[in-house]
Amino acid sequence: MTTMTTPSNRAMPSTRGMNFFTADANLLRALRAYAEPEDVERALPHLEEVGRCAGEELDELAAIADAHPPVLRTHDRLGQRVDEVVYHPAYVEMQRLGFSKFGFAAMSHRAGVLGWPGRVPHVVKFALSYVFVQSEFGLFCPISMTDSAARVLRMFGSPELQERYVPRLTSTEFSELMQSAQLLTERTGGSDVGASECVARLVDGEWRIWGEKWFCSNAGADVHLALARPAGAPGGTKGLGMFLVPKMLPDGSRNRYIIRRLKEKLGSRSMPTGEYEFEGATGYVVGAIDRGFPQMAEMINVSRLSNGMRAAALMRRSLLEAAVHARGRAAFGRALFELPLVREQLLEMVLDSEAALAIVLFAAQALDRADGGSEHDELVVRITTPLIKYANCRRARWTAGISMNLRGGNGYIEEWVNARLLRDAHLGSIWEGAENVVALDVARAASRNGAHEALFRELESRLDGIRSEEAVSEAAAVRAELARVRRQFERLLAAGEEEREAKMAAMCDRLAAAVCTVLLTAEGDREVRAGDGYGKLLAAREYRRRYLERVDPLEADVAVHRWLGELVDGAPVPASALG
Ligand SMILES: Cc1cc2nc3c(=O)[nH]c(=O)nc-3n(C[C@H](O)[C@H](O)[C@H](O)COP(=O)(O)OP(=O)(O)OC[C@H]3O[C@@H](n4cnc5c(N)ncnc54)[C@H](O)[C@@H]3O)c2cc1C
Repeated sequence: MTTMTTPSNRAMPSTRGMNFFTADANLLRALRAYAEPEDVERALPHLEEVGRCAGEELDELAAIADAHPPVLRTHDRLGQRVDEVVYHPAYVEMQRLGFSKFGFAAMSHRAGVLGWPGRVPHVVKFALSYVFVQSEFGLFCPISMTDSAARVLRMFGSPELQERYVPRLTSTEFSELMQSAQLLTERTGGSDVGASECVARLVDGEWRIWGEKWFCSNAGADVHLALARPAGAPGGTKGLGMFLVPKMLPDGSRNRYIIRRLKEKLGSRSMPTGEYEFEGATGYVVGAIDRGFPQMAEMINVSRLSNGMRAAALMRRSLLEAAVHARGRAAFGRALFELPLVREQLLEMVLDSEAALAIVLFAAQALDRADGGSEHDELVVRITTPLIKYANCRRARWTAGISMNLRGGNGYIEEWVNARLLRDAHLGSIWEGAENVVALDVARAASRNGAHEALFRELESRLDGIRSEEAVSEAAAVRAELARVRRQFERLLAAGEEEREAKMAAMCDRLAAAVCTVLLTAEGDREVRAGDGYGKLLAAREYRRRYLERVDPLEADVAVHRWLGELVDGAPVPASALG
């Protein structure tokens, strides 16, 4: 990550033109810990290309698209309703990159994307996406929803629906591509989905939908997966059905809904979010009519995982910006990077971003195994998904804020990326389940499915696999902490509802810290054995002390600051650093 700039008070260093993959030694090492070796080798040229693109044209396009959000054209010149979303050409170009060139929405569904022999594993998709999102966050919502809509249709859709829509949702031919949106939230609530009021009625043997949806990202999409209650069905989530609502009907006419307006948003501005009004819109039932909500949960969970990945990407970009700036900019005769308090902040950003990536790749690996039939991994994914959504999105807000602060006044100016990173970071904690809601879902995954048992078992087996001498002694300390967190978690599950819910956010902070500590320690062991030095193990130990043991910062040893440059660059750290 080192830059050639000589630090000066006049310098305003930029990351533009850097390769966001090759600048990130940690990504490749982490990927090696969770992906099969042949997949890593196959992914390398693509990671390099996404990294180049993210530091060059994608970053420029993203800034333009953010400054020129899409607009809604409601009527044509004859006064007919068209409800067309008009994008800036920069966004269209980004769509081509995301959907066609890199094939993100297609790679889990068809063989041959990026020249892969079969389908690209989730863990590789997440690594590639992580690099892309460092420059463009907004577009990844449509990409993820299109990807997850194809998944839901493949899992639950009738053969006819699959045949009609899956090939186009997963097309890398831009002219063929259909994109998807997801419609749950109504005025009555995004968290309390069971309170929704949209109704579906059978008219002449066809399901038609009436009612309003208060939020629709990727407004103007070709298809929408929407929840609505068939007339007469019971209340709550149990009575909801899932419908595929196409924009165009088979006879070429527009479906019967209007897009009332596009929302003005704090972040994610390149991508349209609108309000919909169904006026008897045609919908095709997906799966069992009384299983709409559990089926939608599949889509939401994949999107939540993707949100955790996006938060990790925002953290990484925030770190990159801060480190490049701090190295190039001087104050009081020294590079900012040399100033002790700046070093402390950068160190914390390194720890946070490496932990965030570790837990994302861990979950993606488990998702690959779950898709391969592993029930154990299905449970690991079940609990890790809301945990990641909670923890990564929450921490990304802090990291993006510190990065902005480190750029000083320029950080607050829209010509630099920091303001966009901060705005986007806040969204991750709201959509697809607000922070409290996902924290409570972690408890639900444990109490209903016993998913925490699988997670703790998995973490213990990762500690059992540790072999290098230094990591083995580190693992002993981690094991003790993990056991303590497990006891706390089980105690809370057994507590009364009032106490359990009130403490669940704090519990998720602790649980996420435990998971990340185990993963970083295991990665550290791997890196020692691969001859990559002791940097990751040092980071793992520091992470454990700060976030799991919660050592008083005023009592902490700052000796680790000596290795900041190496940790930022992924350069070798000697065993002596561990003391
Ligand atoms: C930019 C943007 C795009 C969006 N795109 C879409 C989309 O494409 N499709 C879609 O369906 N929705 C979309 N949403 C909606 C989003 O998912 C909801 O806003 C979100 O789920 C919260 O629902 P709500 O706004 O109704 O808030 P509420 O459900 O009213 O929640 C308000 C607060 O109460 C808290 N809360 C709720 N229940 C509990 C509880 N039991 N215990 C403790 N706290 C609780 C929540 O955590 C939250 O902080 C989008 C939102 C935004 C901002």
